[in-house]
Amino acid sequence: MLPIQFSSRKNHLIDALKKLNFRTLFDVAAEAMLLTEDSGQIIVTNPAAQQLLGYSADELNGLAIEMLIMPRYRKQYRYHQELFLNRPKKSSKSVVNELVALSRDGKEILLDISFSFLKAGQQLYVLVIFNIAHRHLDAEEALRASEERLRLAKQAAGLGIFDYDFKRNIVYWDEQMRILWGKHSGKTISYEEFVASIHPEDRTARQAAIDTAMDPSSNGEFKAEYRIINPANGTECWISARGRVYFEAGRPNRLIGVTRDVTEQKNLQKKLQAQRDETEKIFKQQVAAITASAIAHELNQPLAAISAYGEVVLHAIDSDNVFPDHLKRALQGCVEQAQRAGRSLHELLAFLQKGELVTEQLNLNDIICETLNIVRNDSYQGFYPVLHLEKDLPAVQCNYTQIQKALLNLFRNAAEAMHTADSPTLTITTMVQTLAETNAALVTIQDNGPGLDQIMAERIFDPFFTTKPTGIGMGLAISRALIEVNGGQLWLDSDAKPGAKFHFSLPFAQDHA
Ligand code: ADP
Repeated sequence: MLPIQFSSRKNHLIDALKKLNFRTLFDVAAEAMLLTEDSGQIIVTNPAAQQLLGYSADELNGLAIEMLIMPRYRKQYRYHQELFLNRPKKSSKSVVNELVALSRDGKEILLDISFSFLKAGQQLYVLVIFNIAHRHLDAEEALRASEERLRLAKQAAGLGIFDYDFKRNIVYWDEQMRILWGKHSGKTISYEEFVASIHPEDRTARQAAIDTAMDPSSNGEFKAEYRIINPANGTECWISARGRVYFEAGRPNRLIGVTRDVTEQKNLQKKLQAQRDETEKIFKQQVAAITASAIAHELNQPLAAISAYGEVVLHAIDSDNVFPDHLKRALQGCVEQAQRAGRSLHELLAFLQKGELVTEQLNLNDIICETLNIVRNDSYQGFYPVLHLEKDLPAVQCNYTQIQKALLNLFRNAAEAMHTADSPTLTITTMVQTLAETNAALVTIQDNGPGLDQIMAERIFDPFFTTKPTGIGMGLAISRALIEVNGGQLWLDSDAKPGAKFHFSLPFAQDHA
C-alpha cells in the first residue's frame, strides 16, 4: 500500500498534468519541432526550431517547410513527405535520415527528420521534428580529416594510386600516376593503353608478377619494378609498384596498389654497382696476379731442376758417354722434382682454402631471387628471368656469400653471352628441384645464348680460360671451388640446346635428412 502522503502528492500531479496543454509542451521541448499542414506549410514552430534554424517565429510561419531543406535534398524530402502523407494508417511515425537543412546564415545542418500525424477535430496536421545527426557529422568530419591526412602523406611520399579492374579491363588512377605516365586526362585508362607506356623489356616480368598475385592459392601480393617511357618526351623513369589482388567468390577481381618513382634511387644503385664491379674486377686481377706469382714461385725451382737434369741426360746421350747409373739418377731427379712441384701446389691450394667455413640453414629459393635482383639491377639488366622454384624446398646448409658469388657468376656469364651473341630472346631460366637420392637440392641455370662448343666445354673450368676481351677466366674455376667447399658440385650440361646449361647441387641441412 502507498503511504498516504505520497498518494496525495501523486493525485495533485495528475491534476496539474491535465491542465498542461499541447502548446506548453511544444514550447519547452528540446527538439526542434515544426507543426505543418498536410500541404507542408508551417503553422507554428517551437523555440528550439527557431534557434536551430536561426529564423524568428514570424519568419517561419506560413513558409513551405521544404524551403528550409538544402536545394539538392528537396526532391528527396518531398518524396518522403508524400510517402508519409499517403499512408493508409495515420497513426505511425516515419523517420528520414541524413537530410541537410540550411540555417538562416547559410550553415548546413545534417538532420534526421521524423514525421508524425496530429489530429485536432477533423483536421489532420503533421508534426515534423528535426534531430541533429551529430554522429554523422562527426563521422564525416573525421573522414574528411583522415582523407586530407592521407592526401598529404601520399603527396609527401610521392605515391600514386591505381585500381586495375580485371573485368572491365580498365585502370583507375590518380593525378600522380597520370603525371608519371605523362598522360594528363581522364580518371580511367584502358589497360592496353596503360601497358603501352611500360618499357617492352619489362612487360613480361611485370605481367608474371601480376599472374602470380592473381593465383587464388597465393596471398595476392603484387610487387614489381619496371620502366615507363614518357610519351611526351621519351624520357624513361623507374617505377616501383606494390599492391594486392582482391578476390570475389574465389576469382581475382581487382588489383589495387601504389606506385613510386624510384629513378633517382635506381641511378644511384647503378653507379654504386658500376663502382663495385670495377673494384671486384681490380680485386680479381690482383688475386689472379698473386695466385699466378705464387704458382710460379712454387714451380720455379722444381722446373729449373727438371730442366738441369734433362740437360745432363741430353749431354750424356750426345757425348756417347752413357752411364746407365748416371742416367737413372738424373731421371729419378726429374721424377722427384715433378712430385715436389705437385706437393707444393697442393700445399698452396690448402693454404688458399684455409679458414673456417661458416654455414647456416638457408632457403635456396630466396638466395636465387635475391641474386637475380642484384644482377638485374647492375649493368647486366635486360633479360627475362624465368623461375621454376620448388615450393617448400628444405633448407640447404651453406655459406650465403659463397653461394651468392657462384650464382652471380653464372647469371652474369649467361647475360653476357646472350648480349654478345645478340640473341633474339634474352631469357635465363632457373629451376630448383630436389635430388631425392642424394638428399640435395639441384639448381639448373639455362640461357638462350650461343652455348659452348666441345673444345670450349672441356676448358671452361680451367683457371685463366676466357674468351672475353677483358675476362680473367677465373669465374667458373672459383665458382666450382665455392660450390665444392659447401659440399656440392657444379658442372656443365654439354648436351643442352639452346644456349648453355649449368647445374649445381647443394646438400640439404642435416635436420631435413
Ligand atoms: P670470364 O668470365 O672471366 O671469362 P669464367 O670462368 O667465368 O671467366 O668463364 C670462362 C669462359 O667460359 C668465358 O670466357 C666464356 O667463354 C665461357 N662461358 C661461361 N659461361 C658461359 C655461357 N653461359 N655461355 C657461353 N659461354 C660461357
